[in-house]
Amino acid sequence: MGTTTYSVAVLPGDGIGREVMAAALVVLRAAQSRMGREFRLAEHPAGAQHYLDSGESLPETTLDACRAADAILFGAMGLPHVRKPDGTEIIPQLDIRFALDLYAGVRPIRSWRGLPSPLSHARGSDIDLVLVRESTEGLFYARGRGVVEADAAYDTMKITRAGTARVCDFAFELARQRKAQGRPGHVTNVDKANVFASMAFWRQVFEDRAKGFPEIGTTHAYVDAMALNLVMKPWEYDVLVTENMFGDILSDLIAALVGGMGMAPSADIGDRYALFQPAHGTAPDIAGKGIANPSAMILSVAMMLDWLSVRHGDAALADGARAIERALQGAFSDKAVLPRDFGGASGTDDVVRAVVERL
Ligand code: ATP
Repeated sequence: MGTTTYSVAVLPGDGIGREVMAAALVVLRAAQSRMGREFRLAEHPAGAQHYLDSGESLPETTLDACRAADAILFGAMGLPHVRKPDGTEIIPQLDIRFALDLYAGVRPIRSWRGLPSPLSHARGSDIDLVLVRESTEGLFYARGRGVVEADAAYDTMKITRAGTARVCDFAFELARQRKAQGRPGHVTNVDKANVFASMAFWRQVFEDRAKGFPEIGTTHAYVDAMALNLVMKPWEYDVLVTENMFGDILSDLIAALVGGMGMAPSADIGDRYALFQPAHGTAPDIAGKGIANPSAMILSVAMMLDWLSVRHGDAALADGARAIERALQGAFSDKAVLPRDFGGASGTDDVVRAVVERL
C-alpha cells in the first residue's frame, strides 16, 4: 500500500507571510515522515504584490487550486502602500472567506510555559480557549456595500438564521470534542442583545441550537463585559461564539493575553473547505529581516493536521499535530529560543531549528 498523500494549496502572500510560511513548511516536512504521511505542497499566487504584478489579488486559478486541494495554507496578505483604485486595501483573506464560504473563524489561544506573560495572575498559565467568529455576514456584510450620503454614512449588519445556526452548531460541536478531551465543554455566546434587534435575533438562534447539545453548558455575555472578563479571568472560558466584527476585535484581545499575534494561529472553516493562517498580518515593519516569529503559522499547520485527521479519520495526523505543539512547547520551556516579539534574540530560523530538533 502506498503512503497516504494529502494535497495542500500554499498561498504565502506578502511580507512576513512568505517568511513564516517557508518556516512552517520546513516543520511540516519534518513531521510528515514521523506521521508516515506525504504532503503534496503546491504554491499559488495571491496578495498585494501579485496585484501590483498582474492586476489581480486573488486569481480564479488560485481559487480553483484551493477548491481542488485537501486543505489550504495561507501566510498573510496586503501591503499598506498597495491600494485598489477606490482607495481600499488588498484583502484576499476576506475575499477567500466569502468565495469558499468559510463561515467559522477558529481562534485558539493557550498559555505557553517559558514565554513571558502579560498577565501577572497565577492562573495566567491556565488559559486555553477558542474563539469562534462568524466570518461571512455580521457587520462585515457591509464591506463594499456601505452607503455614503452628504452628511451621513451607513453600514448594515446582516444576521441570518441559517448563518447563525451553522456557526453556533460549529461551536457546540467543538465544545463536544473538547469535552471528550477533558476540557469543560462549555460555550459562551457573546452578543449585544440588550441593544440591537439583530443581536437579540442571534441570541434566540443560539438558544434554539443549544437544545441539540444538552450536554454542553452555555452562558450569555455582552461583548463589552466580555472584553473586561477576557482580561480579568480568561482561564474561565472554553469556547466562545460571536458575530463577525465582535470576533475580529476580541480575537486580537485574546492574542494579547498570551503575548501577541506571534502565538495566535487560526483556521477558517466551512462545510467543504478549510484554510489555516496565522492571525497576524504581513508586518511590513519587520519583513525581510528574518526576525518574524513563525509560531502562529507553525500552530496553524498543526490545526490543519487536526482538521484533516477528523475529516479523513486519520489519527496519525492528530498525533503529528500534538508532536508539533510539544516540540514548540519544548523549545520554549528548555529556553532554547525566545522570539523577538517576546524580547528575545531568536530569529525565524532559530525557532524552526529548535522545533525540528525536537520532532
Ligand atoms: P493586518 O491589518 O493585516 O492585521 P497589521 O499591520 O495591522 O496587519 P500585523 O501585520 O499583524 O498588523 O502586525 C502588527 C505588528 O505586530 C507588526 O508591526 C509586528 O511588529 C508585530 N508582529 C505581527 N506578527 C508578528 C510575528 N509573527 N512576529 C513578530 N512580530 C509580529
